[in-house]
Amino acid sequence: MKAKQRLLTLGVAVCATSLPAVAMQDPGWPEGGFFPGLYPSLPTGDVLEPLDRHAGPRDSATRRLHLWIFVHDQAGETDAAKFMDWYVDWWLKDMETTVAPGVPITVSLRSRVPGVTDIDYHRGDGVDRLREFRRAGAAHVKATGGQVDALTKFVLFVGEPMASWPSGQRGVAAESLSAAIASNQGHRFVFAHEVGHLLGATHEASEQRAFCTTNMGQMMLAKLGCYVYTRANDHKIRDYLRMYR
Ligand SMILES: [Zn+2]
Repeated sequence: MKAKQRLLTLGVAVCATSLPAVAMQDPGWPEGGFFPGLYPSLPTGDVLEPLDRHAGPRDSATRRLHLWIFVHDQAGETDAAKFMDWYVDWWLKDMETTVAPGVPITVSLRSRVPGVTDIDYHRGDGVDRLREFRRAGAAHVKATGGQVDALTKFVLFVGEPMASWPSGQRGVAAESLSAAIASNQGHRFVFAHEVGHLLGATHEASEQRAFCTTNMGQMMLAKLGCYVYTRANDHKIRDYLRMYR
């Protein structure tokens, strides 16, 4: 079947993950509903030290979920530990204790990788850029001795949102490409949200709770994140991981 490309408008929740190379212009991002400046913007130019985090059994024979985070050169992130603390560590703990106990997970943070972190992601078509990032990221992983399989996922963290995104959108994910792009001008759970898309979680299975929004929920100005998925999305993620392990 010819690869389809769907650019979804806000409010239309379609998750066509079974189609090849389908990208979601993520309708989880509403017009204007963000906390600007939650993460202090930092000067550009510094190199983040490479950082790897591990969860789950270290010497497991089962396949590992490996998330590669590439921080764009223009993202203004200069402190790797702070970055991980803000976006990743709480997610990793939730994955390890509640969502997918027993699944070995590695998160690798990289910056200043020519051809990957300097991609002109504003240029042309957003899906093409996502594809370009996935290709370059995978090439880098292989060139540095890593392996790329169905549980290898790629996230590009940028500053300025993609030029092709509708106003207010701060992320995009394509499960079929195992790749996502997230902006650090979004909510703190932007990473968990886009990675959720790469692991089979859906907006439909999210919840708006009294005081917070779960990871796959719509980012609303007046609500904080719950910093968890939901039982339904936990199931979906477990099922997804089971498929490939
Ligand atoms: Zn979404």
